[in-house]
Amino acid sequence: MSVADVAIVGAGVVGCAIARRFTLQGAKVVLLERGADLLSGASKANSAILHTGFDAPPGSVELNCMQAGYAEYQAIRESLNLPLLETGAMVVAWTDAEKASVDGIEAQARANGIHDVRRLTSADIRKREPHLSPRALEALLVPGEHVIDPWSPFLAYLLQAKAHGAEILFGSEVIAGRFDGDVWTLQTGTGERRARTVINCAGLYGDRLDARLLGTASFQVRPRKGQFVVFDKAAAELLRTIILPVPSERTKGVVLTRTAFGNVLVGPTAEEQQDRERATVEDETLRALIARAVEMIPALSTVDVTAVYAGLRPATEEKHYRISVHGDRNWITVGGIRSTGMTASLGIAQHIYKLYEEMGHRHAPVADPVSPQMPNLAEHRPRDWQSPGYGEIVCHCEMVTLREIQQALSGPLPPGNFGGLRRRTRCGMGRCQGFYCTARLAELTAGHFEAPLAVGDAA
Ligand SMILES: Cc1cc2nc3c(=O)[nH]c(=O)nc-3n(C[C@H](O)[C@H](O)[C@H](O)COP(=O)(O)OP(=O)(O)OC[C@H]3O[C@@H](n4cnc5c(N)ncnc54)[C@H](O)[C@@H]3O)c2cc1C
Repeated sequence: MSVADVAIVGAGVVGCAIARRFTLQGAKVVLLERGADLLSGASKANSAILHTGFDAPPGSVELNCMQAGYAEYQAIRESLNLPLLETGAMVVAWTDAEKASVDGIEAQARANGIHDVRRLTSADIRKREPHLSPRALEALLVPGEHVIDPWSPFLAYLLQAKAHGAEILFGSEVIAGRFDGDVWTLQTGTGERRARTVINCAGLYGDRLDARLLGTASFQVRPRKGQFVVFDKAAAELLRTIILPVPSERTKGVVLTRTAFGNVLVGPTAEEQQDRERATVEDETLRALIARAVEMIPALSTVDVTAVYAGLRPATEEKHYRISVHGDRNWITVGGIRSTGMTASLGIAQHIYKLYEEMGHRHAPVADPVSPQMPNLAEHRPRDWQSPGYGEIVCHCEMVTLREIQQALSGPLPPGNFGGLRRRTRCGMGRCQGFYCTARLAELTAGHFEAPLAVGDAA
């Protein structure tokens, strides 16, 4: 059996970015994911904000990774055809007490190297966001905060890794493993795999993987749920800028933002729970989120809700990232990537590669990396249905074409389930939540998924 240089456990945002970085640096990579597709865990539900790090702890690994990740995303996104919705963000003070905190937030932003922040009076706010409630007293504008497509980049990273030889295995839960002093042999859902170094990117299960294979875990995952409400596309004209609250010690708070797909999102909540799997939504919380959104933009009261969802952050008992190197065991743990991981992922990957080099490893970097072109799903750029030859519109709510579905199903990393197809194309993600297109999608996907799609699976 061949021996990889590294086995990466978990294909969340962190594992995907690390698989790309290590492959481009010339390492022989195997990525082991227990789900049927990438982004099956914490990474499948987030706010999709590309953060500047203006409010991150100064001097922290988290801040460095966020800023490095932000810069690398900007540098590579055109070459991979990845979108950026340049919204900027306003941290809005709604009360006198919050107003008193804005000085401190501005000082922290400047200390973190974000020098283009500026204060807005209530009149400035109204000029920029005429639909925002006049109760907004003051704001700090952070022009560099943006919105991205939270799924396509990570598929692009895996496609790039695969094109340069990485082995990507879904349905491959790492169940056990033994280290012989040089090489790890991992028992997975698809058989044994061997690698010299293991990188634990198991997100919500990171502590359990360490405990099972290293015999000890230096942190404990405490899942923190975030619920969201998605407003219909009619809401997008009511808002340009991301509206952030004055953050608390524990959470960034409830955000109001446009999405790359032309909707408006309000959320997330921050609710501690024991369960690492169930991310349920509750009516009372959703009603409170809608009320909060309407307080901020009264005209939202006339806009329908398209969808609701929840995600689980892999938080731990401490706020910072839980990255550790176990040099004597050829093992690196990348845990506790709580609420900024999507932004930081490329920066985390750079950081982990440096740690790996410090363990004494060297490879010959790929000279001329290929750049897979991602299909564009963002509403502010040309969509597939706008160019000829698309065949048919399969999902009318999100204007998803037959060509897009066929390309997703026949690509080098086809979806392993309907969720993966939704994330690759947006089919079934619109107003009817798949009510009208599920039958056609069931026909088109017949034979592609282990659990076939059936009418009634919508929403
Ligand atoms: C509500 C919410 C809002 C957020 N908003 C933002 C935002 O706006 N901007 C931002 O930058 N970040 C945001 N984040 C943060 C970001 O989504 C997380 O930091 C990130 O998803 C964590 O990714 P991960 O790869 O560490 O974990 P995961 O996504 O959980 O990935 C771990 C993977 O490992 C797999 N796995 C687990 N155990 C095993 C095993 N034994 N064998 C094989 N595979 C295994 C799992 O199936 C999973 O796919 C948000 C998060 C949440 C929940």
